[in-house]
Amino acid sequence: MAPVKVTKICCIGAGYVGGPTCAVIALKCPHITVTIVDLNQARVDAWNSPDFALPIYEPGLEEVVRKARGRNLFFSTNVDKAIEEADLIFVSVNTPTKKSGVGAGFAADLNYVELATRRIATVATSSKIVVEKSTVPCRTAESMRTILEANSKPNCRFDILSNPEFLAEGTAISDLFSPDRVLIGSLQSQEGIDACESLKQVYSNWVPQERILTVGLWSSELSKLAANAMLAQRISSINALSAICEATGANIDEVSHAIGYDSRIGPKFLKASVGFGGSCFQKDILNLVYLSESLHLPEVAAYWRQVVEMNEYQKRRFSKRVVDTLFNTITGKRIAVLGFAFKADTGDTRESAAITLIKDFQSEKALVNVYDPQVSADQIWLDLQEASPLSSLENIQKQVHICGSALEACKNAEAVVIATEWKEFNNIDWEAVYAGMNKPAFVFDGRLLVDAEKLRKIGFTVTTIGRPSSV
Ligand code: NAD
Repeated sequence: MAPVKVTKICCIGAGYVGGPTCAVIALKCPHITVTIVDLNQARVDAWNSPDFALPIYEPGLEEVVRKARGRNLFFSTNVDKAIEEADLIFVSVNTPTKKSGVGAGFAADLNYVELATRRIATVATSSKIVVEKSTVPCRTAESMRTILEANSKPNCRFDILSNPEFLAEGTAISDLFSPDRVLIGSLQSQEGIDACESLKQVYSNWVPQERILTVGLWSSELSKLAANAMLAQRISSINALSAICEATGANIDEVSHAIGYDSRIGPKFLKASVGFGGSCFQKDILNLVYLSESLHLPEVAAYWRQVVEMNEYQKRRFSKRVVDTLFNTITGKRIAVLGFAFKADTGDTRESAAITLIKDFQSEKALVNVYDPQVSADQIWLDLQEASPLSSLENIQKQVHICGSALEACKNAEAVVIATEWKEFNNIDWEAVYAGMNKPAFVFDGRLLVDAEKLRKIGFTVTTIGRPSSV
């Protein structure tokens, strides 16, 4: 079988990955019809909304959707029809971490991947290339193949590829327009190589050949977990060093700068912070831990687990620093938390450090004002309820107040905590913030964002990650 010329693509899952990725494919490949499907009607409605009130915030995304939607890009809940018509299907469903179940711990929950795979097998009446876009444990493609082959109709063949997504939320569109690399994993059989070539031709519409890497299936699956583990490890490493800086008088910015000059280390991803969040880093490392354990490699599992434990330690250490600095009690004190998204330029709050901080402040009986420029109040309430399942929303609302601006959040507060590196927090009228706060007024910069010297001149006591409190 020669490589198939792809003319119709279906993407199962219209989330943070499926939506932007396949919208960009549609934009760059006007000859291909791309249908992105999801079971979540509200999400699909938002993608189709006449005023482009899209379900996710991502710089540049609206423009892409405006150009392609209705031309060759469609969003639908009709999963079966899109599967049936497509010659290539991306599986881009969620793969959360299992929180309960037999030996649960931290295994990836592959329920959504399995259901989507079974749906493909049931519905398809012609051959398909099935592409794992979701991040999955190594050798998941094998399970998918077994399910597909056991349920397929005669004359239907399925070729499975792994094509993990490396986009970062907040820069998804520019990452997709100009990726460092596109990774495609396939079986090394003739059919596998042909299927790989078909997908390669899709990306070749805008990605230079030398950036399209083709590898074996298992290497591709593992590379995605490994890439996220290495990135998260770098953050935990610099955060571990930030604790030493705070205790010794060294300055983590200077240390990062100095070590980043080493060309073997490089300067990127060396910024200390209150800790990483997002739906991927923790989940993918725990996935690697679980994989290592199931392969009877306990030392390898312990090594990677430490990256997550350091991240938890960093968040807790930061909360404790706030309490310690506010004279060892925050009971009844108002704390303004600026930022709720897990990082700037996204509305995504999954595993956001802000959630842990607010929960810690709640447990110390503080009053918390929250402001984020992109995250809706509904989402904040949902996350806080999920974080404290034993508290009613009513009780949470007695302690937490959601504000419409940074200035409002800081009014009558004792302390401001910067939890997300939104640029607008740098441009706040800090003089006005200071005037509205109780004194002494404290700022805790969890993202090394603000000009601490400028704030100190105004009168704030500023505490930043990776520097001793007195400096
Ligand atoms: P998401 O939760 O935003 O989106 C997944 C979507 O799939 C949901 O809208 C859900 O309703 C839908 N879905 C689930 N089962 C379905 C089914 N059977 N039929 C139709 N729709 C179904 O998740 P996401 O952030 O887009 O992540 C998707 C995958 O990509 C995950 O494996 C994740 O680890 C990986 N990934 C995420 C990122 C990121 O930055 N978010 C980056 C790279 C890789």
